[in-house]
Amino acid sequence: MSDHNPYAPPSSTISDASQHSADLDFDIIEDQIQSTSPLWLPTDLCVGCGATGTAGKTYDKKLYYVPWPAYLTIFLNILIMLIVILVVRKKLEVTYHLCEHCVAKRKKRMLIGVGVCVALLLGAVLSVFLKSGALALLCGFGLFIALLALAVIGSPPLKAREHQGGLFKVKGASPEFYDQVALRRPNGSLGQYW
Ligand SMILES: [Zn+2]
Repeated sequence: MSDHNPYAPPSSTISDASQHSADLDFDIIEDQIQSTSPLWLPTDLCVGCGATGTAGKTYDKKLYYVPWPAYLTIFLNILIMLIVILVVRKKLEVTYHLCEHCVAKRKKRMLIGVGVCVALLLGAVLSVFLKSGALALLCGFGLFIALLALAVIGSPPLKAREHQGGLFKVKGASPEFYDQVALRRPNGSLGQYW
């Protein structure tokens, strides 16, 4: 059917036009997506590299925006900070897609991260046998860094960076993704689509 439609985007695999426009109900301003919650990104377009097609994985995630001053309450008490964060954070529900290649890349990084953590844990055990305080300290510190890195690798590629008047600004999509979105829009625009 799309063969007869002169307005069909060349890279599109979706023939349902209404589905299409619903998928593109967001603005792109500079390198950020601007949208209310929920944000539906195309499920046939990789947010990581702009590859088209439904192969890969579609994710439904909740992103949270926390204004940075909330973190300052850690100087009062970590428990107070956690409560403040829970109260002030704004939730953005987002659906996004990663192609097979980006899913595989992500898995590989996770495996390397887990491998490093296991190696450092073994190092810590070894330090007990060797009675080496220096090795224990090194492995403990390394493990702390490796776990932080693992948390970053495991988190969604998209991050909610701003929230104002119900609108979120989201970072993390690739320039190639934005190019594909522009191709799919009737006027090829990125910003002020509505
Ligand atoms: Zn990709």
